[in-house]
Amino acid sequence: MIKDEVLALCELSNDLLYHKIPKEKLAYYIKESLRHGREAAKAYQGKDILALCEENRIEIEYIKESKKTYGVSFRAQAEMDKKHTKIWLYEGSIKELAKNSGYEERKTLTYEEALKIHLSHEFFHYLEYSSQHFVAEQLEEVVTLQLPFFTRKARIQRSSEVAAHAFAKEFLGLKELPNIYDYIYLINSNKMKKDQFLQMVKGFEADLENIN
Ligand SMILES: [Zn+2]
Repeated sequence: MIKDEVLALCELSNDLLYHKIPKEKLAYYIKESLRHGREAAKAYQGKDILALCEENRIEIEYIKESKKTYGVSFRAQAEMDKKHTKIWLYEGSIKELAKNSGYEERKTLTYEEALKIHLSHEFFHYLEYSSQHFVAEQLEEVVTLQLPFFTRKARIQRSSEVAAHAFAKEFLGLKELPNIYDYIYLINSNKMKKDQFLQMVKGFEADLENIN
C-alpha cells in the first residue's frame, strides 16, 4: 500500500506550477488538500453516490465508447453552472481501467466500483462548485514571478484533485487514494514500466522524509 501523502505528491507533481512550490511548503499543500477532501466526506458517510447525485439533481449520462483526446482517455467529465450539473461517464474507458486495476496484493475493481470512484471524484468537484469553496483557492498562492516591485502569484490547481481523491477514498472506504489506479492501469497496459513507477514512488517517499 502506498501512503496517501505519497500519492498526493504524485498528483501534485502534475501541476504546471509544481516547481514553484517551495520545498518547505510541499507538506502544507499535501496535508491541507487531503484534509479538505477527508472532511468533506464525513458529511456523506454511508450514503450511496448515485442517490447523492439524484438528491442534488446532478444529471448523469453514460457514454458507450471512450473519449480520446490527444491520446489520453477520458473517463469522466463534468460541466457545472449555476442551474445545472452534468457528469458524463465514459463506460469504455472506465471498463478498461477496471479490467486493468489488479496489481500484486490489490484486487481488481469491478466496473461498478470504478464507476463509483469516478462519480465520487466528480461529486467532490460539484461540492466545491456549489459552495464556491474551491480547495485550490483555500490554499496559499505560490509566487510565480518575483521582481523588485512586482510579485505574481498563482494557485496550485492540482490541490483540488488531491482533495477529490481523498474525498473518494474516505467516502468509499478505499485503502489507497484512487489515483493509484491511474498508475496501475498504465503499468498493466504497458504504457508505463513498473520500475519507472517504483522509482517515482521511492523518490517522493524520500522527498517527504526530507521535509518532515
Ligand atoms: Zn478532478
